[in-house]
This record gives sequence, structure tokens and C-alpha cells, in this order.
Amino acid sequence: MNDISRIPVTHNADSLLIVDDSVVQRQHAVALSRALGVGLIYEAGNGLEALELLAMLVLPPTVIVVDLEMPGMDGIEFLQQLHNRNLGASVIVVSGREQALIESVETMGRMLGINMLAGLQKPLTAAALGSALAQRTAWHDAVAGGGSDVIQVNHDELSQAIGNHQISVHYQPKVDVRTGFVRGVEALARWEHPQHGRIPPGLFIAVAEREGLIHPLTMSVMGQALRQAAKWNASGLRLSVAINLSARLLELPDLVRRIVGQIEAHALSPEQVVLEITESWVVGSLGTALGMLGRLRLLGCGLSIDDYGTGFSSMQQLARIPFTELKVDRSFIIGASRKRNLRVILQSALDMAQRLGLVSVAEGVETEEDWRLLKECGCAVAQGYMIGRPMPAGDMPKWMKEHHQRLPKLRAGGHRTILF
Ligand code: C2E
Ligand code: CA
Ligand code: CA
Repeated sequence: MNDISRIPVTHNADSLLIVDDSVVQRQHAVALSRALGVGLIYEAGNGLEALELLAMLVLPPTVIVVDLEMPGMDGIEFLQQLHNRNLGASVIVVSGREQALIESVETMGRMLGINMLAGLQKPLTAAALGSALAQRTAWHDAVAGGGSDVIQVNHDELSQAIGNHQISVHYQPKVDVRTGFVRGVEALARWEHPQHGRIPPGLFIAVAEREGLIHPLTMSVMGQALRQAAKWNASGLRLSVAINLSARLLELPDLVRRIVGQIEAHALSPEQVVLEITESWVVGSLGTALGMLGRLRLLGCGLSIDDYGTGFSSMQQLARIPFTELKVDRSFIIGASRKRNLRVILQSALDMAQRLGLVSVAEGVETEEDWRLLKECGCAVAQGYMIGRPMPAGDMPKWMKEHHQRLPKLRAGGHRTILF
């Protein structure tokens, strides 16, 4: 139980690895990177060479710029290998091939959990590379919030953190795309670590799942979130609260009883509680999950398919589970206004939600273009940085006030026919 997981948290783009078999292209990329002020630049001629180099480096690169077509090991296989090694570097794909192929590799990388900064067509320009590297800074600020090299999380430390109430909850608004009104919030766990500062859930949820701590952690999050919902109710603000339910929890025999207990303790109506369950898992353990999900739905709780599009559920499987909401994964939203392939997938997911009678939710709405596109595609609910970042409950009143002021702008436009 005490094995330590080493989870890398990377710095801003201060070092690069350029992987390209063409010496000329490599030199060009090196020159541009220097001009952009990157201090440390490594080079490799193909994926294999790059992996060997990465295994040796004391100071690994924070960003990897990789070509797709290379002898030995191509860019796609390299990304898959990179994912297996969990190095934490961000990636920019650069290729002379068509945009659709580059985009699909970008999507693949994102699904593997790699921070994909951009997919760029050759010839590489300083402007394109510069803006891709700037993305990394934004991502780093959002994810790591500053940063130590490696955060080590073990069972005892996480267990104590849960017991000592170091796990707090932030709330991210979910708003109606047509009216702009707030429909609810998603509760997201945050670890306020005395030494490392705020640790995002991407760094400790997996440890909690592996170390048998996901149950106490979820109950702590649910307890805080439902208490908050009751407070909001008392002040006249009725919001639904979404809780992330880990796959493993659906195997616990007393889960439904525990959830009901919490709902009753805070005198909430079950309709106010939404349980978000990741799509990939639902497929794996459909049999055992059905009873649990059915009982939660019978009680009146909302059930949401989270990260839709990253797993492999068929329409038939989805129809069998009493879901009420479908959340399209953010990898299909971010950049969808510019990328035709993503738009096609997004539209088909929204159409399917409608046919199954599910409320469609888009997460990862970062720009006004994303918002407009969702309006045009007929998405019901949206969530993302452009609307509101996850925040402590205390910041909600100020956010609500500001949000109210921009409602007319959010409501304007939309319902245009989209040309794919
Ligand atoms: P998720 O359920 O998909 O939650 C949405 C994540 O997207 C949150 O990351 C949120 O901060 C982020 N996000 C929101 N808007 C945007 C946007 O516009 N752009 C981008 N790029 N990202 C956006 P967060 O808070 O880091 O959580 C990561 C994941 O950790 C969650 O993904 C969820 O799967 C898991 N998680 C968080 N809290 C809990 C929990 O209490 N229990 C369990 N089992 N998992 C949790
Ligand atoms: Ca979620
Ligand atoms: Ca999600």
C-alpha cells in the first residue's frame, strides 16, 4: 500500500525535443525555437532515437515537437510509446501531410491523455510554433498552478489528507446554451497540500482508485457538495450538483444507501443530484453496474455519461442504461470551430443524445467561437473556462453577478445552418 507513485508535473516551455528525420527540417525548427528564446533544445532523427534519448536525459524536455513520417518509428507509434512512459511532456505534431490526418493524430494523442498543444502543417513558422508554446503556458498554469518537479503521492499521505479535510471542492457552472441561465454545478475535488499547494485531481484520483481510497474521497466530496447545495437552496438558489463517480464505486454493495443517507441528511431532493460516470468504464462492467445505476435512477438522481467519445459505447449499450445526460468530452469541443472532423463527431453525438432523450452537455468550452458553434449545433448545456472556471463556493455570488451581466451577449446569435 505504501508504494510511491511518481507523477511528473512539468515546467513551462523552457526545453524542447525536436524529432524529425530530415536534417534540414530539424535545423529549421531549432533555429525558430532559438529565436523564440527556448534555452535547451534536443534533437532526434526518429521515434526510437527520441525514446532512447528521453531515457537518458536528466533534464527531460517540457515540449516535444514531432514529425509524423519517419523511418524506424513513426510519429504515431512514438506518441503511443510516450503515453506508456508517462513522461508528462507536451507535444506539437508537425507534418507535411494533410490537415485531416494531423488532426486525427492530435485527437489520438489527447485521448491517450497527452497534452497536445497543436497539429501544424509544414513548413513550420515562428508564429505557429510561438502560439503553440504559449498554449503550453496556459495549460501549465491551469493544471499545475506553478510547479515543483515531481509530486509524490502515497497511500498514507492521501488517506491523511482526506481525514484532515485537505480535500476541498470547487464548483464549475453548467449553463443552458439557449438562455444562458445556470442549471447547476459540477463538484471537482482539489487537494490543498501544505507543501505542494493545490494539487489537481488528475494527479491523485488515480492513486485514490488504486489504493482503495476512492470511497472515502468521494464521500468527502459528496458531503461537502451536498452541504453547499443545501446552503444555496436556503438562499433561494436552486442548483443541481454533479458528483463524479468512479467506476470502482459501483461495485460497493452499500453505495446506494450511503448516497441516499447523504441526500437525506442535507434535506435535498434526489433530482438535484447528478452522478457523472465515465463512458469507458460503463462498457467494461455493464452487468454489475446496471442494478446500481437503475436504483439510483429510481430514486430520482440524474445519471450522466461523462467524457463521451473517449470510450467505445454503442447506441444500444447507452440505451440500456437509464442515463439522463450525455457529456461530450472536451477533446471534441476544444478547436471544433476550426476543425471539421471534430465538428462532425460533435454533431453526431448531439444528435444521438437527442434521439435517446438525453440532455446534451459540452465540456471544455473555452472560446466564444466554441459557444457559438454549440448554439448552432443545438447543444443544450455548456461548461468551460469561457463560462466559468471551477471556483470555491465563496466565489459563486460574484461570478453569478458578472454572468448575469453578460447574458444578453451570450443569448445573441446562433441557429445558423452549419456548412461542414
Ligand atoms: P471531468 O469530470 O471531465 O471534469 C472536467 C475537467 O475539465 C475539470 O478538470 C475541469 O477543470 C476541466 N475543464 C473545465 N472547463 C475546461 C475548459 O474550458 N478547458 C479545459 N481544457 N478544461 C476544462 P479537473 O478539475 O482537473 O478534473 C479532472 C478530472 O478529475 C475530472 O474530469 C474527473 O474525472 C476527475 N475528478 C475530479 N473530481 C473528482 C472526484 O471527486 N471524484 C472522482 N472520481 N473523480 C474526480
Ligand atoms: Ca465529470
Ligand atoms: Ca468530463
